[in-house]
Amino acid sequence: MPEIRRHYFLEEYCIIAAERNKRPSDFLVAKAVPGDEKDCPFCPGHEDRTPPTIAAYTDDGILLQDETGSDLWQIRVFLNAYPTMIPRPEPPAAEWISLPGQGYHEVIVDSRDHRKNPRDFGKKHLEMLVSAYTDRYRRYSTHEDVKYITIFKNWGKESGASLSHSHSQLITLPFLPPQMKREEEAISRSSFCPYCNIVDRESASCRLVAENNHWILFAPFYSLMPYETWILPKRHLGNLADLRDEEQKSLASMLAEILRILYSTLDDPPYNLMIFQLPKEYHFNIRIQPIVSRIAGFERSSGIYVNPVPPELAAAELRNFCLPPKD
Ligand SMILES: [Zn+2]
Ligand SMILES: [Zn+2]
Repeated sequence: MPEIRRHYFLEEYCIIAAERNKRPSDFLVAKAVPGDEKDCPFCPGHEDRTPPTIAAYTDDGILLQDETGSDLWQIRVFLNAYPTMIPRPEPPAAEWISLPGQGYHEVIVDSRDHRKNPRDFGKKHLEMLVSAYTDRYRRYSTHEDVKYITIFKNWGKESGASLSHSHSQLITLPFLPPQMKREEEAISRSSFCPYCNIVDRESASCRLVAENNHWILFAPFYSLMPYETWILPKRHLGNLADLRDEEQKSLASMLAEILRILYSTLDDPPYNLMIFQLPKEYHFNIRIQPIVSRIAGFERSSGIYVNPVPPELAAAELRNFCLPPKD
């Protein structure tokens, strides 16, 4: 029976339509074949094929600009050669409403290894990645002209990743996206944080997949995509810069867990991993959407997603691959 579900606290809906009990094997998508290393601009030794390095992260911290040789970096950041936003755009021709596409668009090459799957990053490397994300967030969070910072990772061709070498991206916008504005307004109108309420209720629900001292991982009641999961901090905090050291580390553990579980359940699916955060009055969250079903005419014409896998079933499948919690 199809079921219309309302978003936890916004006037938005999705349809959970489990016509039959689909299994993860019904959602297997052709895997991307890694392209050739020798043509890859993200590989070590090819730094001159991209814009200059802005930051490089190693086991020993951030490297200075003049130390960023090929041998040293584990994670390398530079401005996107084909950016969505640019720092100093020309004013657009005045027609309807249009603003200059002012902002910053960074590529964060998150592994030296051309063929490394993120599920094999290991906890130490994911800790470095979380602290690199935090460092990039901090860098733009005080900019006058930056109203929103999105950090995301597209894995696999179907997710929109144009190159197979694992990477993340950061894009800043000169305005707050409407979805975030609606969330911010709903949170400020509410006498309590709706996300803290989600943490309380989903921690005790059949949709919980895993938890550790600081984070919960669950298939949300309001799931747009099959096997969608969210990671929420148990403590109310707005953004990466608010994380304590131990919270950063246990976030890396939780990311390791979900990447491993998704790989096992759906055989290395393409996915979008998206970090939602605001400077204040928000509850940090990460949403991971495997790209295993198509967005078609109904979704585009109504703005309402149809999800053929109830999150309650998705959570049960995902839990099958969980390891017992360690921290
Ligand atoms: Zn490469
Ligand atoms: Zn909260």
